[in-house]
Amino acid sequence: MADYKLAARASHPTDSVVEVKGRKIGGGNFAVIAGPCSVETEEQMLSVARDVKAAGADFLRGGAFKPRTSPYAFSGLGLDGLELLKIASAKSGLPIVTEIMSEEYLDDFARDVDVIQIGARNMQNFTLLRMVGALKKPVLLKRGLSSTIEELLNAVEYILAGGSGDVILCERGIRTYETATRNTLDLSAVPVLKERTHLPIIVDPSHGTGYWELVEPMALAAAAAGADGLIIEVHGHPEAALCDGRQSVTPQIFARLMKKIHRVREAIA
Ligand code: PEP
Ligand code: MN
Repeated sequence: MADYKLAARASHPTDSVVEVKGRKIGGGNFAVIAGPCSVETEEQMLSVARDVKAAGADFLRGGAFKPRTSPYAFSGLGLDGLELLKIASAKSGLPIVTEIMSEEYLDDFARDVDVIQIGARNMQNFTLLRMVGALKKPVLLKRGLSSTIEELLNAVEYILAGGSGDVILCERGIRTYETATRNTLDLSAVPVLKERTHLPIIVDPSHGTGYWELVEPMALAAAAAGADGLIIEVHGHPEAALCDGRQSVTPQIFARLMKKIHRVREAIA
């Protein structure tokens, strides 16, 4: 038995299906999470939520608490950002996916957030993993910047051991010597994880590449590789985005991508 006994495929031979407000991820169900890197304004969130919903997205993303490399960069609107997510979610009907950075806001996230994201930089924040697991809410755990697949599986075990059964894993690129892309998107993690765990695995081609032009081809490749879904950064005005504009697609490009995703899914069915 592996160290990660709850996450291991051996403990649960069939695929786990995570269900959130009627949307399913895993076990043949494909879901797309879309929205801006950061929550900026009410108008931004309402328009992007409307657009990604119309294109077929299942969940709305947007960071209210942002882990930034520089302490002087925009670090999110905090609880005010959570309020804007709630407004956009209520209007669009899309459930909320957003990142938690500290135990300080566990109660707010437990009350207001549908899927709690743990970002790459906190993948091995073991205290946070345990505390989020204890909320027994759906969780999206992203692979660490320089983490192996085994480390990711051990990290998710903390959440499962904490009590949550609904966890989605996310491949978002890893740090390698390559500098042409922001990260190196490890698509082989999809079939490797499918073999080792029953948990759903989604792919983030936005952080995985760092360039909006590369998002569509890698999203299509992720679907072809058997991913259970995608998380994609979409912004109405990427050139004016407060965070990650270079890798954000416009709603128009997102809509085109969604049509192609369906065609790839049909082709491999
Ligand atoms: C994000 O999803 O905006 C994010 C910060 O991602 P990661 O933790 O993968 O860098
Ligand atoms: Mn981002």
